Amino acid sequence: MLHCRSVEDVVAAIKSGDRVVPRGGGHCFVDRSSSGDVVLDLTGLNTIEVRADGVATIGAGALLDQVYDALHAAGRGLPAGCGQTVGIAGLTLGGGIGLIGRKYGLTCDRLIGAQVVLADGSVVECDDDREPDLFWALRGAGGGQFGVVTEFRFATIAEPVMTRIAADWPADELETVVAAWQAWAPDAPDDLTLNLTIDGPRAVLIGASLLPVEPTHALLVEFADLVGTAVPFELSAGMPLSAVKASFGEPATDERPRIRSEFFEQSLSDDVLGELVGGGRLAFTAMGGAYNRIAADATAFAHRNQRFLLETANDRSWAIAHADGSGRVYPNFPDLSLADGPAAYHGENLARLRAVKQAYDPDRFFTFPQAL
Ligand SMILES: Cc1cc2nc3c(=O)[nH]c(=O)nc-3n(C[C@H](O)[C@H](O)[C@H](O)COP(=O)(O)OP(=O)(O)OC[C@H]3O[C@@H](n4cnc5c(N)ncnc54)[C@H](O)[C@@H]3O)c2cc1C
Repeated sequence: MLHCRSVEDVVAAIKSGDRVVPRGGGHCFVDRSSSGDVVLDLTGLNTIEVRADGVATIGAGALLDQVYDALHAAGRGLPAGCGQTVGIAGLTLGGGIGLIGRKYGLTCDRLIGAQVVLADGSVVECDDDREPDLFWALRGAGGGQFGVVTEFRFATIAEPVMTRIAADWPADELETVVAAWQAWAPDAPDDLTLNLTIDGPRAVLIGASLLPVEPTHALLVEFADLVGTAVPFELSAGMPLSAVKASFGEPATDERPRIRSEFFEQSLSDDVLGELVGGGRLAFTAMGGAYNRIAADATAFAHRNQRFLLETANDRSWAIAHADGSGRVYPNFPDLSLADGPAAYHGENLARLRAVKQAYDPDRFFTFPQAL
């Protein structure tokens, strides 16, 4: 492993001729950031600067907890994920789904520029005007495909003060909970995100709202009415985004859980639900809102008309749910069992992405199974 502390270190590594793989947080589910001739550990490139106009320049090795903390100190925030040790690089390059994304979009939707070291060792700046095809491709195709990003520039938001939502209750009627969730959460107001995990006999809900407690509670009563129970939501008022994220942050682990997942444009049918629930852990993430108000070809992230994302724990559950799935898979949840990974990850953007790959990395210096 080579520890890079500067852009020059990255350039030198690439020019050495060894096949390098960049590594940010190192959380790739299929080990793409730990299996090359030379792994470039970028965690030394983690400076974060926030300008008065809210533009944040973030080193590609920064981890999400560092990003949230630094932005918090400047009164700013970014729609991004929950894993505290997840890298801003991998997250952004594959999209970036999080608790305020239904209001503010994917992490990559807030990206306004990046510095990239290409396969020939040249350093380019890209944005809407400079290397626009590369900039387009960096927003959602998944990391490690076009070059090593050394720096990201984001248009941040004023850090919101939020209501944290949590509920954990043993439910007799888990199917009813899922049916209510899939009918309600993807269409909830953008201000509120509610995600559901079914784990054994329990339904666990976590979420966040940009509204104060009372209107948040009123919305959650709608959901509880659909379930037909009084759901014991715990609501915590007045928390800055960074505090909400820290409270939900998953502990770092070296384990690589095998995740099989898919996006859904429509609700699961009653038959599929009946077979699916009880067969292993299920995690549902609400999409909709701002995620879907961006054209599918505006960035490389192709999945702009999905209602939710479902993570399953085993092949059997995945096969059952797949009957109602869209065939689309989140590039940040790579799955080596897919029959056609590139089609699932990139949809209608695949042809343009292949053209960008050909233009920027014709010799496929950056590659891995299922790469462009
Ligand atoms: C605990 C946990 C929580 C998570 N929570 C969320 C969540 O809330 N929302 C969400 O959307 N996703 C979430 N994820 C998934 C996460 O987005 C992906 O695992 C992501 O790819 C991890 O990025 P990384 O930088 O940590 O990983 P890495 O393995 O370092 O990188 C991932 C890929 O990007 C490439 N790459 C890394 N750095 C660069 C660079 N500088 N330039 C070019 N390519 C690069 C790598 O080579 C690899 O192919 C979570 C994952 C975990 C483990």
